[in-house]
Amino acid sequence: MYNSELLNKLKNIQTPFYYYNIDVLRGTLEAAISASSKYGYHIHYAIKANANPRILNIIQGYGFGADCVSGNEVSKAVEHSFDNSKIAFAGVGKTDFEINTAIDANIHAFHVESVHELEVINELAEAKDKVVNVAFRLNPNVDAKTHAYITTGLNENKFGINPWELEDLVERCSDFKNLKLIGIHFHIGSQITDMTVFEELAIKVNSLMDWFEDKGIELPYINLGGGLGVDYENPANKIPDFDAYFKAIYDNLKTRENQEIHFELGRSLVGTCGDLISKVLYIKNGLKKNFVIADAGMTDLLRPALYKSVHVVENLTSTLENVVYDVVGPVCESSDVFAKDLSLPKTQRGDLLCIRTTGAYGQVMSSNYNLRDFAKAYYSDEVYEYQEETILA
Ligand SMILES: *Cc1c(COP(=O)(O)O)cnc(C)c1O
Repeated sequence: MYNSELLNKLKNIQTPFYYYNIDVLRGTLEAAISASSKYGYHIHYAIKANANPRILNIIQGYGFGADCVSGNEVSKAVEHSFDNSKIAFAGVGKTDFEINTAIDANIHAFHVESVHELEVINELAEAKDKVVNVAFRLNPNVDAKTHAYITTGLNENKFGINPWELEDLVERCSDFKNLKLIGIHFHIGSQITDMTVFEELAIKVNSLMDWFEDKGIELPYINLGGGLGVDYENPANKIPDFDAYFKAIYDNLKTRENQEIHFELGRSLVGTCGDLISKVLYIKNGLKKNFVIADAGMTDLLRPALYKSVHVVENLTSTLENVVYDVVGPVCESSDVFAKDLSLPKTQRGDLLCIRTTGAYGQVMSSNYNLRDFAKAYYSDEVYEYQEETILA
């Protein structure tokens, strides 16, 4: 992918920067659509994975809905012309302002996590003389078998309504004249690569659908959330196995007639289209270790520091013999490390590093801690246009 022609262009750009391969993004979106449409499934894009405006426009162009976890994400989805009737709003702590934003935007549904929240949404909807759709976010107690920080579907997580709270919630729902219960929602975690986890989810959802049916409650809207993982270890493997994912659900979920099945994919749609490109500032030889000090840090890519997540790091410009390094950033925190004991071609000041598979939860988690600048983004289909103006002084 990073052939010499491309490298010649990229090496003149101020580092660090995100580089998005638009062909990979489109290929991924098309694969997701083709796998899901076999079953008539609907996909919302989870905006929190990457809210870069160009990426949002491309995703919207394919007709995806939007999954939002803040009022600003709802506004962003509207701004980027996502169909309002395909916007869902989730989150454990929605403020009154955010709820009002979403009511005004006539979104498809609120994913609600407690009785208390139902009361507030009902009150705010009543004040606007509107009836809004709600779906309960249920906690199915399924172990996503992923990193503890990105597991969300267990009883001890802060997310979702637990089974023992459900009875009360359903009873209270009829008091709320400005709410319409349309369905149930789940999101059990992220970076899930074991398909048996999704099979288990579908089976739990079946028994919850039975429970509602016994009570005579129809659920036209079932949303199974996101969570499908990408292959961080093999960056060349660009397209997640959408076929296996939707099949795992389809083979196990007992869908009723007139029921729409929705998903909220984030990482799997955008994770593989982005890389973080950084320049080597210094090489530091310790007694036992050699350090590569890069100009990208945890302010540009937080995942390694936050989740101990591992991204493949490559030296794009050196062809020398391999040496073992720790690759670190410049931020004044010991957790500002991208790779430990990594074998890389002998690395020198000025070499270009590529931190792979950073399209999801990368740029969007940037901060300006240490008052660092935000890394810019560049796109494979615009390399020619920006080349001239961004050449380093
Ligand atoms: C983060 C999130 C998603 C997307 O998760 P991915 O693992 O990126 O697919 C979907 N739904 C909700 C409610 C979320 O919070």
